[in-house]
Amino acid sequence: MAGLMRQAGDVLLVVDVQYDFCPGGSLAVTGGDEVIPLVNRLAQSFAHAVLTQDWHPRGHLSFASQHPGRKPFETMPLPYGMQTLWPDHCVQGTPGAEFHKALDVPRAELVLRKGFRREIDSYSAFFENDRATPTGLAGYLRERGLGRLFIAGLALDFCVRWSAEDARRLGFEVVVIEDACRAIDTGGSLAAARTALVDCGAKLVPSLTLGCA
Ligand SMILES: [Zn+2]
Repeated sequence: MAGLMRQAGDVLLVVDVQYDFCPGGSLAVTGGDEVIPLVNRLAQSFAHAVLTQDWHPRGHLSFASQHPGRKPFETMPLPYGMQTLWPDHCVQGTPGAEFHKALDVPRAELVLRKGFRREIDSYSAFFENDRATPTGLAGYLRERGLGRLFIAGLALDFCVRWSAEDARRLGFEVVVIEDACRAIDTGGSLAAARTALVDCGAKLVPSLTLGCA
């Protein structure tokens, strides 16, 4: 696949490889920790890498615990749109919010924290869930001359999907490394994510095609 030969403006975006999204965590993604060896290998082959970290204050409004009578994985309308409710997770300063200790991306140039406003969730690395409040990542990448994102991490059907869609909307090229992601798959979210990724023009590829699996 000649189109995936590494280019100067390539960056590996590693999404939310944190304890709470790994087995044993409060919002465990099945097999979430299985992406880590692959991400580590991928990271060796990229000159640039960025990590995102879900980073919520206590009592975040995406937590089901904040809405009496509601349970995790239900959806409810919040002022900015429909929100899936989650178990409490990735609370600032707690062990669950830490990156998994096996994650080894020493060349990561930026750690982007998201979801730090109590009133609004932020799946995407680019915009909070109103899809209008920017995180600043687009400006960072543009100033750095980084135009093609290779995305890996957790979870494919939420933070990876939304990051990929926003990146495409902002004019970045996007490659999602499918076997370096795992999904939550609630209420058909995985099938919807695959469709959305194809529709937005993101490439979905196995790590094998990148020559470093
Ligand atoms: Zn979160």
